[in-house]
Amino acid sequence: MSLLEVDRINTLYGDSHVLFDLSIRVEQGEVVALLGRNGAGKTTTLRSIMGVLSPRNGSIRLDGKPIGGLPPSAIAAMGVQLVPEERAIFGGLTVEENLRIAALTAPNAWTFDRIYEVFPRLKERRKSAGRSLSGGEQQMLAIARALIRDARIILLDEPFEGLAPLIVRDLVAVARDLAAEGRTMIVVEQNVAAALSFANRVYGLNNGHVVFEGTPADLTANPGMARDFLGVA
Ligand code: ATP
Repeated sequence: MSLLEVDRINTLYGDSHVLFDLSIRVEQGEVVALLGRNGAGKTTTLRSIMGVLSPRNGSIRLDGKPIGGLPPSAIAAMGVQLVPEERAIFGGLTVEENLRIAALTAPNAWTFDRIYEVFPRLKERRKSAGRSLSGGEQQMLAIARALIRDARIILLDEPFEGLAPLIVRDLVAVARDLAAEGRTMIVVEQNVAAALSFANRVYGLNNGHVVFEGTPADLTANPGMARDFLGVA
């Protein structure tokens, strides 16, 4: 049994049908990359898993238990954490206050020290307001909020978007460490090279359909697929 099984979901915004019989699975300890052009349905997939959107049919199971139709708060309480593209940190609160709020209802919350081992920069900035952080620091805080709750599966929506290459390199190093420790993640990224540097498996989406499933090496061996469907040069 996979940790997460998404089985033939169809998700719509009003009358607009966006995901078509979409199935993906994520094993415990695996990092899965969702790739595809703008509008392919990657964010919609993450929102469907998180319960922000309710698929019209199909099923989503965590540890074999159906979670489709549960509210996001209940799904979060089961260990699924979405790190949204816009990061959504509290700008008026300090780094430490943001972390404390995230940890509040988590039964196995990490200590601040453990978080600061992963992100030493956040320790330096712990008394700073969220809004004063750089883009890279905000992204670290957004990931740290998921980690402090001891997330079983982290959904990363374009974590590297808009960040300078050196910052991306640092965040990729953290992601690789988390992956090496067996933290389960789904990563949606336009920066394919960065995503593939720590993903074990890839799904390619096109117009709400899964058009590719394989390892990063399989994708590299299939440049036509990468070019035609995923917008990867
Ligand atoms: P991007 O990188 O642009 O976010 P994506 O692969 O994450 O791409 P989605 O954001 O999942 O794509 O969008 C899939 C489709 O759903 C697109 O056609 C988009 O226009 C549409 N869509 C997204 N959000 C909404 C919404 N709130 N209401 C209506 N349609 C939406």
